[in-house]
Amino acid sequence: MKIICVGLNYNAHNKEMNREALSSDSNPVLFMKPDSAILHNDKNQFFIPDFSNNVHYELEVVIKIDKMGKNIAERFAHRYYNEITVGIDFTARDLQDQLKAKGLPWEISKGFDNSAALGTFVSKDKFGKAMNNLDFVLLKNGEQAQIGNTKDMIHSIDKIVAYASQFFTLKTGDLIFTGTPAGVGKVEIGDTLIGKLEGEELLNVSVC
Ligand code: ZN
Repeated sequence: MKIICVGLNYNAHNKEMNREALSSDSNPVLFMKPDSAILHNDKNQFFIPDFSNNVHYELEVVIKIDKMGKNIAERFAHRYYNEITVGIDFTARDLQDQLKAKGLPWEISKGFDNSAALGTFVSKDKFGKAMNNLDFVLLKNGEQAQIGNTKDMIHSIDKIVAYASQFFTLKTGDLIFTGTPAGVGKVEIGDTLIGKLEGEELLNVSVC
């Protein structure tokens, strides 16, 4: 399986990263993580890797593809996923900044082992709400660090599925991380990170 991620999908986050605002006329920014990046919710310990002194959390809504598809039309995209959760796209921001400054690919800063923490998947119909109106929140040591709603995405989930499937055949079990809202920050040893979707706790990670 593969993990497709969307960068820069919330303008409030783009602003905090000193990036210009993007419009929905632009194309989604995609990058990948390998399957070795997955940190399952039952192993809820994230060890800060030795190669970084500035690992950031990025809480994101994650969908799981449950049907193979290629060149999927946006209006049919909802048929290709049934389960959602929240996940953390752990990012070695210092490495990413160094690589970006040299114009080099920054995969290692995003795709390292355990950098894709996953919450428990639930049915996308569970909350009885549209996919473009889901509240999600990251609590860091009990305090709200990130508050997001999927309505603030620049590119909707269905648009991301359609766009990604032009380049990558989507297969059962593939995951899509759909971008992070504002409020990203550094993790420290001892932090507890809890991710909630529509008020329901789906993710709980201890930083070690
Ligand atoms: Zn991200």
